[in-house]
Amino acid sequence: MRAWVEKERFDGDIVDCLTVILPTRGCSWDSCYMCSYSSDSPRDATQEKILAELFRAVERKSGQIIKIFTSGSFFDSREIEKETRQKIFKKIQEKGFRKIIVESRPEFITEETVKEISLLDVEVEVGIGLETSNDVYRAELINKGFTFQDFVEASKMLREVARVKAYLLLKPPLLTEKESIEDILKSLNDVKRFADIVSLNLMTIHSKTPVESLYLRGLYRPPWLWSAVEILKKSDTEIICDPVAGGKKRGPHNCFRCDRDVVREIREFSLTQKKNVFERECECIERWRLSLNAEQLTGSFIFS
Ligand code: SF4
Ligand SMILES: [Zn+2]
Repeated sequence: MRAWVEKERFDGDIVDCLTVILPTRGCSWDSCYMCSYSSDSPRDATQEKILAELFRAVERKSGQIIKIFTSGSFFDSREIEKETRQKIFKKIQEKGFRKIIVESRPEFITEETVKEISLLDVEVEVGIGLETSNDVYRAELINKGFTFQDFVEASKMLREVARVKAYLLLKPPLLTEKESIEDILKSLNDVKRFADIVSLNLMTIHSKTPVESLYLRGLYRPPWLWSAVEILKKSDTEIICDPVAGGKKRGPHNCFRCDRDVVREIREFSLTQKKNVFERECECIERWRLSLNAEQLTGSFIFS
């Protein structure tokens, strides 16, 4: 069973959040250049197995919030049928959770989805992987398959009944470190009106992806943790960041000496939103400064 309890912000407090990964067939789009979730998804996913997994998790663990990931879209009925979703909602309400967090691509947000959510007694937050507000970067460097306008329309519908979380992706391939920071700062400004909260995702190298091919040829370096710190310090909207594989070679990293501390500070910031948590210094910050303008090709070799 893939379920665990972690801390999450809720109405200004820090509370327990049960995170569950449901074994669905995976994302129907399955074409983003950095993602291998679908190939990790079980081939034998059935609605019964999905429900059994959810029920097992909520019987064993609890929290005020439940976060449900599917490695795809919660509202995609090819992954989770409507009837299954309703059983999940019923169970969650019975168990007394106060908030449910799910993820979805914008094409699955319809009038019917809004109606489904409106019938619930718990607060709902829907995360959408916008990645960037730049349509060219999203299409050409990420292959996301939807536009900023698609996100805006889904967000407008959702916000009648739910909170919207926009995921932004730091450092799509082919951008310099500096360009990727600027892209996020601009995106933060652009999504402000359409999202209640932003989650900053730092690129990690998944196996068997186009981004991995670049990485293996020395043409891509995952973002520096210093870049994330810079963005979090400059942001004036609520923003969270959980550096997955932080401090590992295939994940966002600095010099490997300061990484553990910087990851801890980023997580602490995500819970508290206090900018004074960033205290760690390290000599590698000079190498990060030098690498800001390096092209991917030379930057990957010299500044890793
Ligand atoms: S939409 Fe999400 S789950 Fe689907 S391929 Fe893209 S990143 Fe992966
Ligand atoms: Zn360092």
